[in-house]
This record gives sequence, structure tokens and C-alpha cells, in this order.
Amino acid sequence: MKTVRAYVKADDAYLAASVLEGSGLSPNIRDGHTIGVDWFYSQAIGGVKLEVPDSEYERAVELLGLPAVSETIFTCPCCGSTNVKPRQLSLLNALSLLFFWVAVPVVSRRADCIDCKAVLKMKETSEGLELY
Ligand SMILES: [Zn+2]
Repeated sequence: MKTVRAYVKADDAYLAASVLEGSGLSPNIRDGHTIGVDWFYSQAIGGVKLEVPDSEYERAVELLGLPAVSETIFTCPCCGSTNVKPRQLSLLNALSLLFFWVAVPVVSRRADCIDCKAVLKMKETSEGLELY
């Protein structure tokens, strides 16, 4: 399965999934029930994910009118790997969820290189986000 897009609200994801199903694809909604119960978790867990089998990805992107994007947009400055995963939960979010059951709308500015295990920081530049 490959994620086509993440939505803030479950309704939007189900609407897009119905478009794909109507065209003969086999979409799957991930985290729809969690965010449907409490939409405030949407930011913390990265939204409602609309997934399709790998073989249907290109067709799904075309049907939804989305620009084709690469799986990762970051390159590790330590080893050059593109296997870098941005953290979706900031420390502040994790602590507020743990103690107060409230998600604070703060995005984590860290990422992990899966290959060399480096913990990277993100900074915003004029060209977008950059790792260092
Ligand atoms: Zn690395």
C-alpha cells in the first residue's frame, strides 16, 4: 500500500476514496476511525491517510488531480540517504497528549535518518524545509 494523500478530516478522505472506488481502484482509509472519533488527533497522527496498492498509485494521483511527488523530500546530510522520516509528533504534543489528552498544534521540527540513525533538525529556508 502507498499513501496517496493525508486529509485533516475523515469525510474528505472517504469522499476521495469513493472517487477512486468508482474508477475501479481499491483504496484503503487508515486512521479514519481514530480521527472520526476525535478530529483533534488529526494533527498528532498525521491525518487520515488514503492508501492504494502500489500498482494503482499513479492512476489514483491522476484521478484526484494531485501533482506527482516523490516518497521523500529530504536527503540526510550525514550519509546522503533519502530514507529520512520526519517526526509527526513533537515532544510538546506527546507530553500534552499524555498528561492532558489535548493535542497542541505544534509540528515537530526533527527527522530521523533510517539508514545512519542520525537525528536531524529541520529549519525553514526560502526554498522550503532543510535538514541539518
Ligand atoms: Zn543518514
